[in-house]
Amino acid sequence: MKDVIVIGAGMAGLICAQKLKQAGLDVTIVEKSAGVGGRMATRRLQGTWVDHGAQLISVKSDSFGRFIRKLTEKHIVQEWTRDVYQLSASGLFPPDADNRHTRYCCPMGMTAIAKYLGSELAIINNTRIIGVNHKEAQWQLVTDRQDILETKAIVSTIPAPQFLPLFEEVLAAAPSFLQALQSVKFAPSVTIMAGYNASNSVPMEWQAIRCVNDPILDWISYDSSKHAEKAVQPVFVLQSTAEFAKQSMEEPDLEIAGKPLLNQAGKLLAKWLASPEWWQVHRWRYAIAEESLGVSCLSTSIPLSLVCAGDWCAGKNIEAAYHSGLAAAESAIELLK
Ligand SMILES: Cc1cc2nc3c(=O)[nH]c(=O)nc-3n(C[C@H](O)[C@H](O)[C@H](O)COP(=O)(O)OP(=O)(O)OC[C@H]3O[C@@H](n4cnc5c(N)ncnc54)[C@H](O)[C@@H]3O)c2cc1C
Repeated sequence: MKDVIVIGAGMAGLICAQKLKQAGLDVTIVEKSAGVGGRMATRRLQGTWVDHGAQLISVKSDSFGRFIRKLTEKHIVQEWTRDVYQLSASGLFPPDADNRHTRYCCPMGMTAIAKYLGSELAIINNTRIIGVNHKEAQWQLVTDRQDILETKAIVSTIPAPQFLPLFEEVLAAAPSFLQALQSVKFAPSVTIMAGYNASNSVPMEWQAIRCVNDPILDWISYDSSKHAEKAVQPVFVLQSTAEFAKQSMEEPDLEIAGKPLLNQAGKLLAKWLASPEWWQVHRWRYAIAEESLGVSCLSTSIPLSLVCAGDWCAGKNIEAAYHSGLAAAESAIELLK
């Protein structure tokens, strides 16, 4: 039997497992995908890396700043831009002085951080947790391979709306814990990764744009500028507004779901953005926490030791997931004492 099973190999799960391992506990991560990183997601396309989840890293706290500095020294992370431009009906504008600060990226894609963190951890990939029971002093996690994994404590780092259907029944005796999780709401997003002919005139002045008050487009990244010296063609990432994603989430044809984003970028910014040489669509049902809980993590010992963590506990970004993962490790260590 394991001391702790961590569900999910995103930022929160990986940093949590690393800390638990450093504390001498026997810990394993179970991850449904083939890779690691969760919403810090990178796709290998046309010989290059394209980030289709998190686009950049911002740093607020000193401790996260130290973590990012360490990754910068290892050449996993680098400075990307200080300026997120704003695009509105009145045009494209650079940020005002208050909003100029360093944003970081990974030249080999956001998953590079997760690969680094996970390199010395025990991770079971391609395995989804589909159910949970408890027997005497142990949890039993049921996987989609019909395996039963036994553990003294669980740290779940999956978005709250995905956690609830799995754990609602076993947490019937912890109603306030359940109520807190039920209050967490997530917004969806549609993401386009698109590559263009190298002859198109690519902007030099911006790497990232936030679209203001647009019904379709929320964000545009000049993704290939993250590794400009290796890029063979300009690649852009477009992200939709939550409202647009809600309408197109059930559209069976991915091209139909994604095409309006390309058309809108062509209309708002440059005509050629509507006509890429190649493009792919990814839909995120649980992209960004709309309302987070305002706590670093949630823990209970009823019926057994369980901690919930993730960006949605304390915020909506990579830094929030990092802090939540660390807090979850401390909480699990305390519960196991
Ligand atoms: C489109 C998009 C753009 C974003 N842009 C930014 C940005 O620019 N900057 C920023 O800081 N943040 C951004 N974010 C948010 C950022 O990606 C997240 O805050 C952060 O990655 C969350 O990490 P996490 O570990 O909490 O959760 P996740 O990364 O979601 O990790 C959860 C993991 O659990 C796994 N999992 C789920 N269910 C199961 C199951 N039943 N069994 C086993 N495994 C399971 C998932 O596969 C996943 O790997 C963006 C997110 C999206 C989607």
